[in-house]
Amino acid sequence: MAERRVVIVGAGMAGLAAAIDLAGQGVRVTLLEKDAQVGGKNHQKIVAGQAMDSGPTVITMRWVFEDLLGGVGLRLDDFVELKPLPIIARHAWSAEERLDLFAEEAASADAIAEFSGLAEAVRFRAFSQEARRVYHALEAAYIRAERPTMSSMSQDIGLRGLSLLAGLGPFASLWKSLGRYFHDPRLRQLFARLVEKFWKLVFEYFWSVGEKFISRSLWKFVFEYFWSFFGR
Ligand SMILES: Cc1cc2nc3c(=O)[nH]c(=O)nc-3n(C[C@H](O)[C@H](O)[C@H](O)COP(=O)(O)OP(=O)(O)OC[C@H]3O[C@@H](n4cnc5c(N)ncnc54)[C@H](O)[C@@H]3O)c2cc1C
Repeated sequence: MAERRVVIVGAGMAGLAAAIDLAGQGVRVTLLEKDAQVGGKNHQKIVAGQAMDSGPTVITMRWVFEDLLGGVGLRLDDFVELKPLPIIARHAWSAEERLDLFAEEAASADAIAEFSGLAEAVRFRAFSQEARRVYHALEAAYIRAERPTMSSMSQDIGLRGLSLLAGLGPFASLWKSLGRYFHDPRLRQLFARLVEKFWKLVFEYFWSVGEKFISRSLWKFVFEYFWSFFGR
């Protein structure tokens, strides 16, 4: 059989992941990178003689890295040592207005109660619970699915999952949706940054369902129209 060869342009996370996967399947991979170092947005800069890590800061799905390396007989732990940090992000609006978010939900709720009041902390708990429910509803059907189709997703997600997603109001603006949970504009601003990707996921789900019924290009136009207005 002829040797399969692939050229990948760009050695960011996407290029590196594709290269590992393809090489594991026996494909001969050439990976091209224009910069001096690989990693793309994950990189280090030297500022005034001090090494600074730049780009992504949070690994939210460790299993993605484990599955990728596991698929080619390697272990993540053999390459990097990951240590959980109790504080996942530190925010400041002014010298006095400071808020840390923690890996533990209860610790974050306590910090929010102190920063913004008890009612806001209670709503944060409700927000976390809702986000957890949506994640679990979409995990198998969409996030882990290689090529989800309308029938595979509808089957996996079921009627309850569909009504859960519809209940989120997928075409409401992110700012308006967050207002159900966060009345303090500083928290709304903070969580808007964190959940943008999540909402994009929900939008994409509805897009993938809708494109089966109307032409892809028309649906893409509708999706991008809504996204440009409401998705940010
Ligand atoms: C400030 C910041 C914070 C972030 N925080 C998080 C986070 O906490 N968690 C998270 O999961 N994600 C985070 N992200 C997103 C994450 O960094 C990106 O989604 C991811 O790194 C994108 O990887 P990529 O390979 O698609 O693209 P890139 O990392 O952009 O890689 C593209 C590569 O292609 C190379 N290239 C481009 N054109 C050419 C060419 N013509 N020839 C050769 N090489 C070329 C570039 O030099 C680059 O190395 C963050 C991003 C930023 C900017």
